[in-house]
Amino acid sequence: MQSRYSLNLGKIFGIRVSVHWSFSLLIAWIVIISVNQGLSAIQILMHILFVLSLFVCVVLHELGHSLIAIRLGGEVSSISLLPIGGMAHMAKMPESPREEFLVSAAGPLVNVIIAALLWLYMLFLHPVSFDDMSFESINLANFPLMLMAANLFIVVFNLIPAFPMDGGRLFRSALSVRMGRLKATRIAKDIGQVFAILFIISGLFFNPFLVIIGFFILLGAKGEYEMIKYQDIFSNHNAAELVNDKYVVLDPETRLSEAAEKLVHISDNGFVVKQEGDFAGILTKNDLITGLNNLGKDGLVEQIMQKDVYRIPPDKALFELYQHMQKNRQHYLPVFDDDNFLGVIDLENIHEFFLIHKALK
Ligand SMILES: [Zn+2]
Repeated sequence: MQSRYSLNLGKIFGIRVSVHWSFSLLIAWIVIISVNQGLSAIQILMHILFVLSLFVCVVLHELGHSLIAIRLGGEVSSISLLPIGGMAHMAKMPESPREEFLVSAAGPLVNVIIAALLWLYMLFLHPVSFDDMSFESINLANFPLMLMAANLFIVVFNLIPAFPMDGGRLFRSALSVRMGRLKATRIAKDIGQVFAILFIISGLFFNPFLVIIGFFILLGAKGEYEMIKYQDIFSNHNAAELVNDKYVVLDPETRLSEAAEKLVHISDNGFVVKQEGDFAGILTKNDLITGLNNLGKDGLVEQIMQKDVYRIPPDKALFELYQHMQKNRQHYLPVFDDDNFLGVIDLENIHEFFLIHKALK
């Protein structure tokens, strides 16, 4: 999820934690349901407190994944919370089957530990009697028990062998030992889709929430497989192979109307701006259209060109580059060997490269 839809909560171990705006809908939903049930303000507050505690457990779960991933050489940029659960965004993910297994197992393990601690708390520090416990709403007496049950539910739910749940990854890592990662992912994806359909069908009869989870799994399974397909095709290729040195050059003083004129005749997604033969920046199609809207046709290229743009090193692994461009929505970037400008790479060319190599396989 993009951060502009999220509220930043701060950093833990250098990892940014944010919560998606739709999380407020979940809280609102709980309040509405509680009011409808005729609960008191205190009881409603307990329900909200419970959900917040649960989401602390979810953050700890994601931290479990993240810290193990970092230990194994991965990079985690952020953790985001959605009403449906948490998500750790890994810029670099350990890929060997063993490492993937450890990273995937770490999350659910955190919830097992939390559940065990709550159980010990109830056993020794705060013994509870189930006989006079009321389960109509969450209260101080049943809070630890309910939180323990919820953590166990998170464990069971995450162990469903389907992407994007941890179980999907655990399953894939187990399969990857015997076959290639691509094939393992395909099998895990197929099994995930069967689960998704079961969720959707049973959801239609029992609980609409299951339908949502079903679609979530369907999308997750497809997304994961697509990504691994790209990773498979792009492995052992780097940026140097895709450098385009037949770009169209503009002068910083070119008027936007003139640039727009040129744009009609080219298939590239942008221009290279050069000043006296030296690289000065890039101008993408989108920059130009926005610039025309804001400055009019008499605006100049230098007013809107991107000067401090990311410079791709030629040895950049193609899959990493592809992820970088996708994530940052940069469709057109320059390639530099140190200070030496080599050309540009267009995201569309990366897609074409993928399609051609896929067809050749
Ligand atoms: Zn997890």
